[in-house]
Amino acid sequence: MYQFSRAIYRELAPYIEAPCAGMAPTSNHAAVLRACEEVITRLATDRHYFARPARTLFLDVRSYFPMSAQSHVHRVISRYIDCAQTFLAEHPHEGYTAVSGAPPQCRATTRKGSACQRTPLPHNGYCPSHQHLADTEDRELAAA
Ligand SMILES: [Zn+2]
Repeated sequence: MYQFSRAIYRELAPYIEAPCAGMAPTSNHAAVLRACEEVITRLATDRHYFARPARTLFLDVRSYFPMSAQSHVHRVISRYIDCAQTFLAEHPHEGYTAVSGAPPQCRATTRKGSACQRTPLPHNGYCPSHQHLADTEDRELAAA
């Protein structure tokens, strides 16, 4: 998964502004790379609750770039986040395992209050016995 965050960072790196005097010369670069990795991690592990990842990342990093580069930064981020989302839609378990080191688990909580340990279905993140929760969620979203 981190091939996506590294690709974003590589394309953006030449445009990153130098930090204020007194800061480590690489501090802005480190901050941009970290923001890219955080968004990719969250996308891979929690994409059902991550509504606008490209916008989130753009808002996180835009202050590190000059005005003249903003639209380029936005395009690069949108393009790679689209790729990452396409990849995750096709390989949700691989994406999750790549960033978390463990396979995904159902999003439901059992009646005892612990996390359900079963393998979720890729399209909604709930295991077969918790599919009714996904249905409820869809109705709530539709009603909102
Ligand atoms: Zn479950």
